[in-house]
Amino acid sequence: MDLKEVHSFILNFLLKKVDMNIIITKNSEETRSIASEMAKNILSVQSQDKLAVVIALEGVLGAGKTTFTQGFAEGLGLKDDVRSPTFVILKEYHMELSDKNLRFKNFYHIDCYRLKDEKDIKDIGLSEILKNPENIILIEWAGNIKKALPKNCIKIKFYYISENKRKISIQ
Ligand code: ADP
Ligand code: MG
Repeated sequence: MDLKEVHSFILNFLLKKVDMNIIITKNSEETRSIASEMAKNILSVQSQDKLAVVIALEGVLGAGKTTFTQGFAEGLGLKDDVRSPTFVILKEYHMELSDKNLRFKNFYHIDCYRLKDEKDIKDIGLSEILKNPENIILIEWAGNIKKALPKNCIKIKFYYISENKRKISIQ
């Protein structure tokens, strides 16, 4: 499977649950579990792709990007407490490998909120990270580094509806 197929695989998986690639969550726990399902789903696909899997998260402050990331990390089986790496921009986590997952070894959580100049992303070595097929990368405020994103990355947009309601759109 190439990345495009992985993408449609994830979408189909979600389609079974929600009819569309738009999901409304009624609380943060629902957002976490959607993310966790997606992570497990990605792990189960033994893609032969030569590049990292990249998920670009967009939406205003408080829309749920970090909450989603926490659920996603949980789905990957990571026990570390994932917080927004707002001050460090990038955080790397190593996954404990199981028989089910032969491909992925590292999870990267990147937050581009504080990135003023798109060129600064070079300093964190993103291009190298993107090349490694053993990596899964979630990027908050991905809109700040549009040019650096790979063409077929999975885009997830978060919309604030009301205090506990969010619309999550997967593209
Ligand atoms: P972001 O990273 O996009 O700035 P966060 O995930 O840090 O957003 O914050 C989202 C906040 O909204 C959290 O305090 C979370 O508990 C709350 N929240 C309420 N309802 C939801 C929901 N349905 N999905 C995600 N977060 C929610
Ligand atoms: Mg955040």
